[in-house]
Order: sequence, then C-alpha cells, then structure tokens
Amino acid sequence: MKRYSVFAVAKEAFRQHKGWDRAWANPEPKKEYEAIIIGAGGHGLATAYYLGKNFGITNVAVIEKGWLGGGNTGRNTTIIRSNYLQDPSAAIYEKARSLYEGLSQDLNYNIMFSPRGVIMLAQTQHEIRGYKRTAYANQLQGVKTEWIEPKRVKELVPIMNIEGPRYPVLGGLWQARGGTARHDAVAWGYARACSDMGMHILQKTEVTGVTQENGQVTGVETSRGHIGCKKLGIVVAGHCSHVAEMAGFRLPVESVPLQALVSEPIKPCMDVVVMANTVHGYMSQSDKGEMVIGGGTDSFNGYHQRGSFHHLEETVRALVETFPMIARLKMLRHWGGIVDVTGDRSPILSDTPLGGCFINCGWGTGGFKAIPGSGWGFAELMAKGYSPLTADFGLNRFTEGRFIDESVAAGVAH
Ligand SMILES: Cc1cc2nc3c(=O)[nH]c(=O)nc-3n(C[C@H](O)[C@H](O)[C@H](O)COP(=O)(O)OP(=O)(O)OC[C@H]3O[C@@H](n4cnc5c(N)ncnc54)[C@H](O)[C@@H]3O)c2cc1C
Repeated sequence: MKRYSVFAVAKEAFRQHKGWDRAWANPEPKKEYEAIIIGAGGHGLATAYYLGKNFGITNVAVIEKGWLGGGNTGRNTTIIRSNYLQDPSAAIYEKARSLYEGLSQDLNYNIMFSPRGVIMLAQTQHEIRGYKRTAYANQLQGVKTEWIEPKRVKELVPIMNIEGPRYPVLGGLWQARGGTARHDAVAWGYARACSDMGMHILQKTEVTGVTQENGQVTGVETSRGHIGCKKLGIVVAGHCSHVAEMAGFRLPVESVPLQALVSEPIKPCMDVVVMANTVHGYMSQSDKGEMVIGGGTDSFNGYHQRGSFHHLEETVRALVETFPMIARLKMLRHWGGIVDVTGDRSPILSDTPLGGCFINCGWGTGGFKAIPGSGWGFAELMAKGYSPLTADFGLNRFTEGRFIDESVAAGVAH
C-alpha cells in the first residue's frame, strides 16, 4: 500500500491523483479464516488491526452487514476522555486515549485527533461531590484531570452563561488532553491498515447464524454462504443480543436509540468540549464550524437509527440556558444510533459459553473514545485467552456481583 506523505500528495497533485491505490480491497470471502470478527465498526476493525500488529494473526475477516463505519462509529459525537471513576475503566479508557495521541502516525492516516480539552460541568451539589471524587481517583490512577472553579470554566468557554437561574455552573471536571477525533477516519484508518496486512473486510455481508460443533465455534452463516473460523469475535454494538442469540447465549444488555444533531456552520466560538450532564446535553464545535450537539437515549428500547423532533427539542431546550447563543442557530441535521447499555454502564469484553467465541459490547453511549484500547485488549483476549486490560469486564461479573459501576461517568454521558 502506498504511504500517505507530503511527497506522495505533491506527486499525485501533478498527475491528477490517478496513482492512488484503493484504501482497502473488496475481496471474495475465503472458505475459512483463523479468526472472524463480526462488525466493521471501530471496535471490530481495531481488534483485527491489533490481532495482526501485536500477535501476527492476519488470516482474519471482518464481516459487516452494511458499510464499514456505518454503525455507531460513524454516528457519534466523537468525544474522547478517560476521566472514569473505577480503576479497570480508567485503565482501558486511558490506554485508548493515549493510543489516540499517536494513532495518525501509527496508521499513516490522519484521524484528526484534537486534544482540545473536555469539561464536565457540575451544576448541582451532588455533581460537585461526584466530580471531585473522580478527580481524586484519577490522580491515583495516573489520569490527568482536575477540578476547576466556575471562573476558570468561564475563561475556557466565554460563550457560556455560568449564572443560569435554574442550574448555575458550580465548577467542572477538566481533562486537558481529552478532545475529539474524526470518527469516520478512525474506521477508515484501521480498515486500510487491516487490508494492507492482507485481512479481508467483507462489506454488505450479513451474519445470519453461528455454527458450532461439540461446544466449539466452527464458523458463521452469512448472506454470502458459510464461512469457517477457529475463533470468532462478536463486535456489533446495538445488535449484540441478536448475534449472541445465534451463538446460543443471552446478554444482560438493552439496546436503545441515542440521538445527536448539528447546527449550521458558524465562526469558531468554542474550542473545548463541554458536557452538561444535569440538564443533559453536550456540545463541541467541528472543524467545519457546526455545533455538534448530543442528547440522551430514548426512554424505550428500539432499533431505529433515526432522530426524532421531540428529542431535538428537549436537548436544545436543556442547553439553551447555559449556552443562550444556540437559540439563534439553525439546526442542520439530526440522526440516531443503536447503543448497547449494560446495568453497570461498563462494557463487556469476555469469553462466552461457546468455545472460541468472544464478545465485545456494552459500550453504550460512550465507546468511541475507547476504540484503540478496546481493540488492543480484545485482540489480546482473543489471541491469548487473557488480557489484563479486559480481565474485569467479563460476563461473569453479572453473576458474581462484581459490577463496575460507572453510572456517574457514563450513565448519560459520552
Ligand atoms: C448519537 C451517538 C453519539 C455518541 N457519542 C459518543 C461520544 O461522543 N463519545 C464516545 O466515546 N462514544 C459515543 N457514542 C458511542 C459510540 O459511538 C459507540 O460506543 C461505538 O461507536 C461503538 O462502536 P462499535 O464498533 O462497537 O459499533 P458499531 O460502530 O455500531 O459497529 C458495529 C457494526 O456491526 C454491524 N453488524 C450488526 N449486526 C451485524 C450482523 N448480523 N452481521 C454483520 N454485521 C453486523 C453493524 O452494521 C455495525 O457496522 C455515541 C453513539 C451515538 C449513537
């Protein structure tokens, strides 16, 4: 694969960009692979990438029913942070955040990582206590975050009204190296690198069944026929319950739509990411100038990947007191994705009752930020049967009562 570099871009500019290779191949499926990953979202592609890069396993297919990155990975609001409360969460999210720092160089693909800083606003006494606790926990975990007073919040975000009548801003949890990245580019960068290693990315190929013999996985039924494998990774986010059912086990997961919207593009006015969890809304400004606004999950289970007007109204109404300027913006588009939410708001990265079959799901409303760390740990779990990064996130925690309660960090946040 031709490397992207300033020289390559200059050379191609002189020959009307006719010399570029396709970013990834579109191969016919083989009869069998060493490992199959179902789901070409960020987590599935990152898993395949680290299987190849860290363990030399390249006889891999990533099977995707739609187009790669077309699930939640291409629908999220791209917030990256690692200020979680519990040690196992801080470890995997901080691993991910630190990998994001060098991911463009590693993949030779500009993922536009922008560590512009993330503030989580405290607008109630309860949030002050919760976020101060997280800041102390983060110090012990080696994750750089700090509690900041309202004056500093106002300095960082001049467009904010910190004296709102209902919910004045009482301070915030600040992570200076949190930020955003271009979501599609993360999927595309991993896909290109996987394809370059000889892996097959099979788009428009739906998995319809999982085959097994003597309790061991043997392959998958797909819309393009049976494909065999020795190891299987299920990485399908909101559809995980369906695919787990095909493999013969149930998951403690609910699937709910989560929505977001963007405004018309405006001049640069906010260069950090702000999350306001009490009123529930969060906002950042994209490189194009649009205000990217995220809301909450629908209050009912569902599988529709659409936005809805009542949600849009609720989210904007919640934010307008803290950001009065958005009242004058036109909204450009809104959409939804199906997120997979667990009871303790932490992901599942686990082996399963079916031998050779592993599952990575439950990232809920906040898995974009975790993609590199999740892929790193899940690849290790699939290759070696154990990973220190994923050890606490097993399915057995639900039967053993070892919950990793992240409802403050992740219950409604992203
Ligand atoms: C509106 C919204 C905003 C969000 N904001 C943030 C945020 O700011 N920060 C953050 O960290 N996270 C955020 N998230 C969450 C984040 O997007 C997800 O946790 C993450 O993208 C999940 O990635 P994934 O690879 O597991 O799943 P996906 O990207 O959904 O990929 C799963 C893939 O599996 C495929 N698939 C499903 N069933 C089958 C089948 N039977 N056969 C073959 N393929 C199948 C799907 O087509 C899909 O492409 C947000 C999510 C949404 C919806």
